[in-house]
Amino acid sequence: MSAQIGVTGLAVMGANLARNLARNGFTVALHNRSVAKTDALLAKHGDEGDFVRTETLQELVDALEKPRRVLIMVKAGAPVDAVVDQLVPLLEEGDIVIDGGNSHYQDTRRREAALAEKGLHFVGIGVSGGEEGALNGPSIMPGGSKESYQALGPLLEKIAAKADDGAPCCAWIGTDGAGHFVKMVHNGIEYADMQVIGEAYNLLRSAAGIEPAEQAAIFEEWNKGDLSSFLIEITAKVLKHVDAETGKPFVDVVVDSAGQKGTGRWTVQSALDLGSPVSGIAESVFARGISSQRDQRAIAQTTLAAHEADIDVPQDFVEDVRQALYASKLVSYAQGLDMLASAAKEYGWNLKLDEIASLWRAGCIIRADLLKVIMEAYKGDKAPANLLFAPAFVESVGKAVPAWRRVVATAVQLGIPVPVFSSSLAYYDALRAKRLPAALIQGQRDLFGAHTYQRVDREGTFHTLWGEDG
Ligand code: NAP
Repeated sequence: MSAQIGVTGLAVMGANLARNLARNGFTVALHNRSVAKTDALLAKHGDEGDFVRTETLQELVDALEKPRRVLIMVKAGAPVDAVVDQLVPLLEEGDIVIDGGNSHYQDTRRREAALAEKGLHFVGIGVSGGEEGALNGPSIMPGGSKESYQALGPLLEKIAAKADDGAPCCAWIGTDGAGHFVKMVHNGIEYADMQVIGEAYNLLRSAAGIEPAEQAAIFEEWNKGDLSSFLIEITAKVLKHVDAETGKPFVDVVVDSAGQKGTGRWTVQSALDLGSPVSGIAESVFARGISSQRDQRAIAQTTLAAHEADIDVPQDFVEDVRQALYASKLVSYAQGLDMLASAAKEYGWNLKLDEIASLWRAGCIIRADLLKVIMEAYKGDKAPANLLFAPAFVESVGKAVPAWRRVVATAVQLGIPVPVFSSSLAYYDALRAKRLPAALIQGQRDLFGAHTYQRVDREGTFHTLWGEDG
């Protein structure tokens, strides 16, 4: 029996994608560096579909129909190169090597170019949804050549999550590293989305004294409105959870330093290279960084003055926080999508933002009702230059602005850090400001470095001969 696809790397993600493929009727050849993982998968789930057990990469390649499709699901970084190097001599022109891990898009671009020279397709696919999604339907973001998508797309679309309208959450994103780039930015937005929810929780707790169990009910309520999303849903679950050992709210027994695996950091690094202002995403990565500086935080608690203002929280504070959360979340999406537009120009990708929003509607961590509205905003020829300019959001974010300002002002007066709420508001205000202090900065640059400037009243480039006193 020849298999339609081979999977090498059978840790949690690879095993679940292999099972998903088999459950959807594809014959899947299995391989893992250590055979024990292959046998464990077959012993536990071998009856879920048609699997072909292989022990070596040669056996894996021999088990596949042509053109061969080999999905690599090993640890990102050097292991991917190691597996690619072993695979390539075993393959024939037209075969497709797929990397479904969280690889850096520049690695994917490099690998795609190297394999293209050998007549092979290399496809980097972003897979979101964690292990649950991999098994039951992830959101899939494939890059690589369009030609390779013709051979690969039908399999991926079959195993992908389906949105409410039945559309698969998988579409060809663009050449070389486009798929991994979009997945990276997805993760950046995910960081910001989680941080704004965290800031809302912290405000409700620290400013309004609302305990976790009561907050769970609030988040459940919010999940019925325009904030409805997977992350709001699981927030309610986490807040409701009580630690069995101590009887305390679960959040109170967890150390408050957030981990990170690197895709948020990559997003910000890439945004800096592109000159793309993703301030909310950056603040959310830095917020995790500060949370991890536990030694400094311990010193600061007894050293740094607070001088919190003696104020009452505004009336309707819970509703204010909901609106501030909505607006800040929107800004994070706007910044992430704007970064995609910048990358499309830089790398020659024809990224379709409506399709990208569409395939984030289900299966992935940032899935949210809002994505349907975002998808609509970019449809056809009415694509706005910035998501915030789409009529639907001009109105909904506009309505939230008074509450957003009240919440940020209250947080600042009470000494509660809200880095993404406040930076998102600053981004919104900077976009709409008639004049920015950048004019003064241009003057400073011209004075100390003869960097020149442009004038508002005529074309050209100017330099002032600065004297002692200006
Ligand atoms: P992982 O822990 O990242 O990697 C373990 C797998 O890599 C094992 O099969 C291991 O083989 C193999 N491996 C490591 N070094 C190797 C080498 N030099 N040569 C051959 N095989 C090697 O596994 P994972 O959590 O399933 O993740 C796989 C990929 O998906 C990663 O890129 C990850 O970032 C990405 N991803 C993960 C999630 C998630 O929720 N976990 C979500 C989305 C994407 P042995 O068994 O022989 O050690």
